[in-house]
Amino acid sequence: MRCMRYLESIQKSLKRVTQSQVPCARLELPVAEGGGCTAARRRGRTQGGAAAGPAWKILGCILAHCSSIVLLSGAQLVHAQPNPALIRVAVAKDDPQVLLQIFGRFTMVASHNGQPIQQGRRLRPVTVRAVAAGLAMGDDVLPFAGVRIEPATDAAISLNGKRLRGIIEIMRQRDLTLLVVNHVELEDYLRGVLSKEAPDYWPPEALKAIAIAARTYALYQRFTKSQIDYDVSGDIMSQDYGGKTAEKIATTRAVKSTAGWIVMSQGKLFPTFYHSTCGGMTENGRVMGPFNIEPLRGGVTCRFCLASPFFSWQRRLTKADVAWAVSKSRFGSIGPVGDIQVTKRTASGRVEELRILGARRTLVLSGYDFRSLFGFDRIRSPLFAVERVADGFVLDGHGWGHGVGMCQWGAAELARRGFSAAEILEYYYPNTQLVDVQTLVNQPVTVVGGS
Ligand SMILES: [Zn+2]
Repeated sequence: MRCMRYLESIQKSLKRVTQSQVPCARLELPVAEGGGCTAARRRGRTQGGAAAGPAWKILGCILAHCSSIVLLSGAQLVHAQPNPALIRVAVAKDDPQVLLQIFGRFTMVASHNGQPIQQGRRLRPVTVRAVAAGLAMGDDVLPFAGVRIEPATDAAISLNGKRLRGIIEIMRQRDLTLLVVNHVELEDYLRGVLSKEAPDYWPPEALKAIAIAARTYALYQRFTKSQIDYDVSGDIMSQDYGGKTAEKIATTRAVKSTAGWIVMSQGKLFPTFYHSTCGGMTENGRVMGPFNIEPLRGGVTCRFCLASPFFSWQRRLTKADVAWAVSKSRFGSIGPVGDIQVTKRTASGRVEELRILGARRTLVLSGYDFRSLFGFDRIRSPLFAVERVADGFVLDGHGWGHGVGMCQWGAAELARRGFSAAEILEYYYPNTQLVDVQTLVNQPVTVVGGS
């Protein structure tokens, strides 16, 4: 544990090579849209410089815990490859306060130097707030910008009523909000993800396929986002994470039975996007960023998600609805709306570009921006046709989500028809291989579309 602290400290203090743009969403946020999960990177923190400790000690820890390091001439350390067995999950972002409780023995240390602050047998519920002088815990103010809380093996941390495995770090940000990061083993993280991302009554082979995709997606984010304070968000911006509280027997079984297995493309790690319902055909990964690669090329025919309640949908929008939504957005008012015209579609038929004709001007939008005007729950996918009716428009749509990668409802149906998890993954991510994550240790990992 102590070495892990040093490892994370050195990761913070090292000069970063590049700032990669990483897709945020399991569901909706393409890189091209400047996704929200990079916001924390832009916002920065007030965390003081991490005390690095003796160089030999840090290097020893890196050698013990990292898969590989890259040394420039003169032995300048520029990049440490993350340990694939761990992940850092942002479980609270930009919160003015959080409710913390600890069931069992714990140690609290200052983040910047590992100095013990407090040890206890348990912690009653206490509100933690960011204040100018540091962190306020109830009536006590700790003069630190960040603290780490390490529970004993039989103890558990509860944050805002959600029990978490692993340890947590609470950090004050510049705007006096909190960032709370859960440092947790990857497999434990997945137990709290799969139960949120898939119904536990789905066939085991479908759950296993989704577990492998979720593991790969998480690792991809870890390997491409190691230069900021966390690897993934604990919400649907990355993958929904319910912690220990959310774990269910069937989904935990799927995680355990696939432990360590990921999908790779010719030895490269890539973002295994997945979505609820493709609605007939999957989409090319280029809509999510620089991912026009074989496994994400899209065009996979899928009639297996017909049973999904989201296979077909309709949404009625009045002209007034549209005018109002546009006027309240960053695009500003375009006056009364006359028409909506789809001007460009992707090869899979999804809306790539459309025009909203206003009395004052015409607004040209991507399918993504159009959906964002009304909410991704209301306009479930970019796969829709626009029909004009008396007072507005009816969107006749199919599917839920961006459509890239694996269709979860399709995976469930394939499993019911007897296909294995490996066959399901091969269907939705063509020309890929199942790989044990242990093979990533002790060798440099190449990622697709990352830094
Ligand atoms: Zn489908």
